[in-house]
Amino acid sequence: MKPWSKKPVIATLGSHSALQIAKGARDEGLHNLIVTIPKSTALYARYPCVNDVLEIESYGAFPSIEKKLRATNAIIVPHGSFVAYLGLKQHKEMNVAYFGNKNVLDWEFDRRKQRKWMEEASIVVPKLFSRNEGIDRPVIIKTFGAAGGSGYMLAKNNTDLKKYIKKMAGKQYILQEYIIGVPMYVHYFYSVMDKRLEILSIDRRYESNADGIGRLPIQHQTGLLEPSYTVVGNSPLSVRESLLPELYAMGERVITASKNLISPQGLFGPFCLEMIIDERQHMYTIEISARIVAGTNLFINGSPYADLFFDVPMSTGRRIAREISVAYKRKQLHKILHLDSHEKK
Ligand code: AMP
Ligand code: AMP
Repeated sequence: MKPWSKKPVIATLGSHSALQIAKGARDEGLHNLIVTIPKSTALYARYPCVNDVLEIESYGAFPSIEKKLRATNAIIVPHGSFVAYLGLKQHKEMNVAYFGNKNVLDWEFDRRKQRKWMEEASIVVPKLFSRNEGIDRPVIIKTFGAAGGSGYMLAKNNTDLKKYIKKMAGKQYILQEYIIGVPMYVHYFYSVMDKRLEILSIDRRYESNADGIGRLPIQHQTGLLEPSYTVVGNSPLSVRESLLPELYAMGERVITASKNLISPQGLFGPFCLEMIIDERQHMYTIEISARIVAGTNLFINGSPYADLFFDVPMSTGRRIAREISVAYKRKQLHKILHLDSHEKK
């Protein structure tokens, strides 16, 4: 294995949480590089925390720069746009050193696998309904893959359900019990170097139109509009301290289960458990994101939770850079990278 004689360069795609990742790298003394498409080059060039911008015509052209990235000792830090813009296949085939375990991607993308993972970790999830059975409670119809909540539909009864299922022809989706409560997104980081799980921050999403409906008088809400869940932004959340023990226990169980299910070393680095807490304070996990989520952008300058661990403002982006930097110094980068085929030789 190549000992990484030169310091690694943190590279990512220009979108989603790229600025946070770039600033985090700079704060940890690592060079960064952002790969952009023409419409966003000027944006990333604006910021002093971005060292290099490398433009490609379209995301499809990513393979054409892989050789260059390898030559600069780049480590790719993935975020939500990788699957959304590159697609799962291209993302997996990317032939550059990669922070994280790519085998986790299959478990994140396929909602049935996700569910198996959550069950293995004893995480409570909302009830799933199959297409042919009737529903006895409101159900949310969700497509596969991270799409920021867009395209989801809420069926109140079987009549709604039939109508919506027709619209979903040819798509992969699930029918999930709809939980009424507060959506809470917990941003974890599991450090291989420190063998420690950290909650770095928590957000709740602001979604259109679901979060706007309450502003309408009740007579306008009824029958006039369908709720939708397209994410518009995020707001910070601090939770009742008495909820923290369970949140940590859930994160630990997810990591332990991943070690058994996902070769070679399970999940590590940033991940997010997206849950809804009902009035009994029961936590229903609706999804796991096995990478940095956009809600962490609220905390580029640290968060109340990260401050409990670190004396410097620690964003998730910076935490990733620190893990990489520590691994580099200890000559243990192989423990946290999915290496490209050149490296493995
Ligand atoms: P964008 O770069 O804004 O086009 O986003 C890339 C992907 O990340 C899309 O799938 C978005 O739906 C998702 N995304 C972007 N911002 C957020 C956010 N604040 N919260 C959740 N998902 C997001
Ligand atoms: P997701 O793509 O799974 O992160 O979901 C996007 C948004 O849809 C969430 O932030 C919730 O507002 C809503 N949502 C998803 N699943 C459920 C559910 N089972 N019950 C209630 N709301 C949900």
